Amino acid sequence: MGRRKKIVQECERLMDEPENIRNIAIAAHVDHGKTTLTDNLLAGAGMISDDTAGQQLAMDTEEDEQERGITIDAANVSMTHEYEDTNHLINLIDTPGHVDFGGDVTRAMRAVDGALVVVDAVEGAMPQTETVLRQALREGVKPALFINKVDRLISELQEGPEEMQRRLMGVIGDVNELIRGMTDEMDDIDDDWTVSVEEGTVGLGSALYKWGVSMPSMQRTGMDFGDIIDLEQADKRQELHERTPLSDVVLDMVCEHFPNPVDAQPRRIPRIWRGDDDLDVANSMQLVDEDGEVVLMVTDIGIDPHAGEIAAGRVFSGTIEKGQDLYISGTAGTNRVQSVGIYMGGEREEVDRVPAGNIAAVTGLRDAIAGSTVSSVEMTPFESIEHISEPVITKS
Ligand code: GDP
Repeated sequence: MGRRKKIVQECERLMDEPENIRNIAIAAHVDHGKTTLTDNLLAGAGMISDDTAGQQLAMDTEEDEQERGITIDAANVSMTHEYEDTNHLINLIDTPGHVDFGGDVTRAMRAVDGALVVVDAVEGAMPQTETVLRQALREGVKPALFINKVDRLISELQEGPEEMQRRLMGVIGDVNELIRGMTDEMDDIDDDWTVSVEEGTVGLGSALYKWGVSMPSMQRTGMDFGDIIDLEQADKRQELHERTPLSDVVLDMVCEHFPNPVDAQPRRIPRIWRGDDDLDVANSMQLVDEDGEVVLMVTDIGIDPHAGEIAAGRVFSGTIEKGQDLYISGTAGTNRVQSVGIYMGGEREEVDRVPAGNIAAVTGLRDAIAGSTVSSVEMTPFESIEHISEPVITKS
């Protein structure tokens, strides 16, 4: 059996273990390294070869995006990662990095429970960092931080340990100030959602040279900041990558700190759905009940040359299967599901069924648009997704 087939089978097995699922987005200001980081994660999970990570730009599926070097259309990918002897299913939704596509970013946030915010160590938090954080928090999505391009501080700017630490703490402080300002207004978030090095919700490193560290990873590998500076300055980046690979650090952080659907949905559903709490469907969304009524929130419509329109989104309740007749919010009648699948590195893989807590790619929902609520019973649709306007910034 091919490696890819094995990964698909493992994903299918894990789809039924919601405690071990993490639905995440990576969001960043343009050019801060989201695409390069995503490629690292795909390579780490065995989806693309290690050598091509960083060059392949696997998430930029549209030719136009490759040419322009901008990620336009949110693409989805599922991968597996072993953390503390347990395999996890990580459904990653790519978000556009360019300001013009803010609406897509917000839609992607509806489907996930955790957002990894990437910030360039040299540039620091930028206006769009604030926008993506606001989009995540408004959807009840928990943030974590990855400070990228740390290699540049060492090799280009020749910063010493103290200068570097001051700069990195400055970035963390700026991001936390934004998070604090936004979560203060949210009464359904009791926990402190600011990020912290000590707690392991901050990672830093170089997506380009594929190394990364976090407090837990430094404790595990025994490497400290001095070792990293020495190896980076000596141009021993391959050794750095081998001793502290970025994908492990980030995927461990995702498994450890982002909520699984069972923890996230009871908190998120009241925020994104204003229907009657007493209904069975409300209960089964809160419980992530795969035997409940089907409820899918469509976050993206893609076009496949063979299969036509594909509606991708988060299954909040029930199990989607071929042949089901489902209601589409805002339209009369039902559409029949022609196929269901998951995304693997930008390509769709058909599977028999996709249960609650996962991201599904569905064909046959011809009346669905991004934002539709698709369900096996007629129900109050999800809240419309608010587009957050943002300042106009030109790509440097
Ligand atoms: P995106 O717009 O956020 O998806 O950013 P990309 O991943 O396309 O990266 C933008 C540019 O920054 C590209 O030229 C990358 O090669 C470069 N880049 C990304 N990560 C790093 C890094 O860790 N170090 C350095 N020096 N450059 C990086």
